[in-house]
Amino acid sequence: MRAESSVAVVGSGLGGLAAACVSAARGHRVTLYDKNAWLGGKAAVLHEGGFRFDMGPTILTVPRVLERIFAEAGRDMHDYLDLRRLDPQWRCFFDDGSQIDLMQDVEAMAADMDRFVPGAGAGEGYRRFIGISQHLHDVSNRFFFWKPVEDLFDTINIRANMNPGTLRDVLSLRMHASVASTIRGKVKDARLAQMLDHFVQYVGSSPYGAPAVLCAIAHMQTAEGVWYPMGGTRAVAEALARLAGELGATLKPASEVTGLAIEDGAVTGLRTRDGTTPYDAVISNMDSVRTYRELVGGEVGKAYERKKIEPACSGVVLYLGLNKRYEHLNHHDFVFSRNPEEEFDFIYNKGEPAPDPTAYLAAPSSTDPSVAPEGGEALYVLVHTPYLRPHHDWSTMFPAYRRVILDKLKRTANMPDLEERIVVERHLTPQDIHERYKVLNGAIYGLASHGRVMGAFKPGNRSRQVRNLYLAGGAAHPGPGMPMVMMSGWIAADAHDSDVRGVERRTA
Ligand SMILES: Cc1cc2nc3c(=O)[nH]c(=O)nc-3n(C[C@H](O)[C@H](O)[C@H](O)COP(=O)(O)OP(=O)(O)OC[C@H]3O[C@@H](n4cnc5c(N)ncnc54)[C@H](O)[C@@H]3O)c2cc1C
Repeated sequence: MRAESSVAVVGSGLGGLAAACVSAARGHRVTLYDKNAWLGGKAAVLHEGGFRFDMGPTILTVPRVLERIFAEAGRDMHDYLDLRRLDPQWRCFFDDGSQIDLMQDVEAMAADMDRFVPGAGAGEGYRRFIGISQHLHDVSNRFFFWKPVEDLFDTINIRANMNPGTLRDVLSLRMHASVASTIRGKVKDARLAQMLDHFVQYVGSSPYGAPAVLCAIAHMQTAEGVWYPMGGTRAVAEALARLAGELGATLKPASEVTGLAIEDGAVTGLRTRDGTTPYDAVISNMDSVRTYRELVGGEVGKAYERKKIEPACSGVVLYLGLNKRYEHLNHHDFVFSRNPEEEFDFIYNKGEPAPDPTAYLAAPSSTDPSVAPEGGEALYVLVHTPYLRPHHDWSTMFPAYRRVILDKLKRTANMPDLEERIVVERHLTPQDIHERYKVLNGAIYGLASHGRVMGAFKPGNRSRQVRNLYLAGGAAHPGPGMPMVMMSGWIAADAHDSDVRGVERRTA
């Protein structure tokens, strides 16, 4: 490949947009395709009756990743985004009527936990949990982040790095333990443990099945905070699309890619309804498994058809325009299920919606009054559900599940008059998510992170099967969630740029 190459990015999710920005900043000619009429993928926006809802992600963490993407182009992220820190980070409503706020400061949180469960050592247990989380994050940072990893062998260059220190790091990854057992080893109170379980809900996996290394998410959130971009998380997608345009990328919404042109095992271009266009390389932000099955096809696609790959969970979202603000809600709230084991068993093992679910709420009007008419609220309610199974028909399942969710909010979040307050209502089901974003079985967060040893690994960013094909997004390394998919876009673009220049960049 030449030093300046032509790159097509398939999909304008946050991962695709990040890849487009980094690739263009490195001097490549970038064309970005998305099948939808808007750019940003799941980071979409809904305007209805004077209300504005972020439709997908609402919790932004680790803004350092965004800063690095803007810095690639010599720009300051703060010139594009007005980020406000949210602390308390979440308000938690438990089924027994008790309530606690998750605070960013570890000492303040530990003191609150000791008040919440006096004399049980909860605060000290939390400090020790965060200590483990910090260590797991440090190890992840060295071996896992900002690199095109697919498996343990990519993580650790055995010949170059296998020394006693590395071995100690690998052993300290607690491969014998799950997220849930690590939390419960330190924090005994069932409600506090349930709250901490929900760090791993950012990746749509069961804390009982997810490897302990994912506890690192807790440290990322306590060390770097939870942020709200004024204008909503949609503003992140808009800022990246603006940057990509300023850097000369050609942006093509409403353009579905139907296949890749592949010759002698290397990508040579892509196909759309208008025909084949040649490119030196393709970065796919389409779900990685569907990229191989549907865009690559052939023997590689067949091999992916045969692989048993587990999607992450899906979800139901209610967008409720209310003529009232509930003053007792925080910007982010969790309304917890009566029993996390029952809930996760339904979602992740039985494959059915939980009878008594946890609901996540975003009530952003106190931070950003522009989301609703004066005195109102643009209430966002997300309940995780199983990924789509063949017998799921959400056109018939939705009305009954809506009832379950509203009853849960009335009961556990102290909102008895909720239904009378609704003036605008829209929703998204797993089937809608599946169709809008072309994901695997309606998965919100790409692929499940289940399995003690390999649970944290996803398909790598530099394809091993097809040359000049790179992968970015929630179903590729390092995984889902806003910061991780943007990092994934950076890694994919960096891997391509390194290949073009014939160097192995190791910038971590
Ligand atoms: C309801 C919901 C709530 C969430 N909450 C949070 C949260 O609070 N915090 C957080 O960090 N994360 C959250 N997430 C997860 C986060 O949104 C995702 O991890 C992230 O936005 C996914 O980005 P992505 O790069 O994988 O691309 P996606 O957003 O999945 O976009 C992929 C794009 O590719 C396009 N595409 C696919 N195939 C083709 C094709 N063949 N041709 C052209 N275009 C194609 C699709 O149209 C889509 O626009 C949430 C997600 C959802 C749905």
